[in-house]
Amino acid sequence: MHKTVYLSLGSNMGAKVTNIKNAVEAIGAIEGIEVIKTSSLYATEPWGKKDQEGFINAAVEIVTSLTPGQLLERLQEIEIKMGRQPSEKWGPRIIDIDILLFGDEVLESRKLTVPHPHMRNRLFVLIPLEEINSAIRFPDDGMDIKEVLARVIDREGNQGITKI
Ligand code: ADP
Ligand code: MG
Repeated sequence: MHKTVYLSLGSNMGAKVTNIKNAVEAIGAIEGIEVIKTSSLYATEPWGKKDQEGFINAAVEIVTSLTPGQLLERLQEIEIKMGRQPSEKWGPRIIDIDILLFGDEVLESRKLTVPHPHMRNRLFVLIPLEEINSAIRFPDDGMDIKEVLARVIDREGNQGITKI
């Protein structure tokens, strides 16, 4: 079974733009994954933990025959291979790859929560995601991505995000 899956990528260390591009290439090279679409890159202010460098973020649409657990493992291998060190929560990182949506699955385990638990509040996730597919609906509550995005912008402005 091939599922359409959306990923979020972020980097705030070293050559950030190159890190994102290298990660997308590495994702496409995994057996069982085809990269369908990559969003523009966005420069964003740090979120959560604010005393660190800004991020470059992007979203990617893939089609995969892997299970959610297999996909998470492959993505974590890329993070480690690219030199990501274990660090504090929301701290600086060469590359962070998160699974946003996995088909219409709703999953909650120790290792994996899908839809990603913070995605509804993060414009650096929602804006690139809406750019690549504005018809997305959340599988858990059926909300429309455009609606979720508009609500966050109404509430908080644009959270310091610019397309680069
Ligand atoms: P964060 O992405 O929240 O900044 P990490 O990248 O260090 O933090 O991830 C911490 C853990 O989050 C991972 O070990 C992984 O098991 C777990 N996790 C839970 N849900 C997801 C998801 N949807 N995508 C990626 N990782 C997830
Ligand atoms: Mg992560």
